Amino acid sequence: MAGELTDKVAVVTGGSRGIGRATAFALAAAGAQVVVNYARSSAAADAVVAAIRETGGSAIAVQADVSDAAQAEILIKAATEKWGRVDVLVNNAGITRDTLLLRMKPEDWQAVIDLNLSGVFYCTRLVSKLMLKQRSGRIINIASVAGLMGNPGQANYSAAKAGVVGFTKTVAKEMAARGVTVNAVAPGFIKTDMTDDLSNTEAILKYIPLGRYGEAEEVAGLIRFLAADPAAAYITGQVLTIDGGMVM
Ligand code: NAP
Repeated sequence: MAGELTDKVAVVTGGSRGIGRATAFALAAAGAQVVVNYARSSAAADAVVAAIRETGGSAIAVQADVSDAAQAEILIKAATEKWGRVDVLVNNAGITRDTLLLRMKPEDWQAVIDLNLSGVFYCTRLVSKLMLKQRSGRIINIASVAGLMGNPGQANYSAAKAGVVGFTKTVAKEMAARGVTVNAVAPGFIKTDMTDDLSNTEAILKYIPLGRYGEAEEVAGLIRFLAADPAAAYITGQVLTIDGGMVM
């Protein structure tokens, strides 16, 4: 497909559902060849790949739990074995294990840190080797407004996402000289499976100036922009909130 990402190879972690799924579609629509990563939802990942192929795009699904360093390696290897390079990495895979601090078990803490923070480190480290050699690349990390302003019940999640923000800025500085940009996107409340069970909708909407939840496609549009060349070539080390105005 022709577009601003024609012939680029994009890896989207957690591309089977939600924001990652919408991102896989958006990058494919821009012409990228897309690696759709998932952990468990193989049917959902296959459906994303099939839909991309139906519209003339290229995509493969790769199962890998990116909270595990060895499996992250399998994912990035699958991309390079298929297409020889990685131009765009979207570190999107994430989970929540919400509960108030006093009730939070060490395993709730660890699972969220392992995927939402360490997973970003594993994939970025592997891809950075390729991008530094290529002297080009885009790394887009999905943070959250919870990492910027905190959120009761999310000590684990907000710590991981704040970690992603610091990580993004440091890696942006380390890689800038080789033409690789690293940015973070911090969504507010987006309609996905992750936010499906939020019961206090009215209370949440009071804090969103635009008065509604966001759509996964809206976040995907921002990610597509950050991946685009030359449109976003001069943006690095930034955290872009996409939250209907919650953080301003
Ligand atoms: P979602 O609908 O729950 O989808 C999560 C995705 O991550 C799925 O594709 C899932 O694949 C994948 N995943 C889960 N564990 C994984 C693992 N260990 N290895 C690889 N992939 C794994 O979530 P979402 O709402 O789209 O969230 C996407 C990102 O945006 C996350 O980083 C989240 O923290 C962030 N975010 C979301 C919101 C929101 O309001 N939705 C707000 C701020 C930030 P499987 O189905 O195979 O498990």
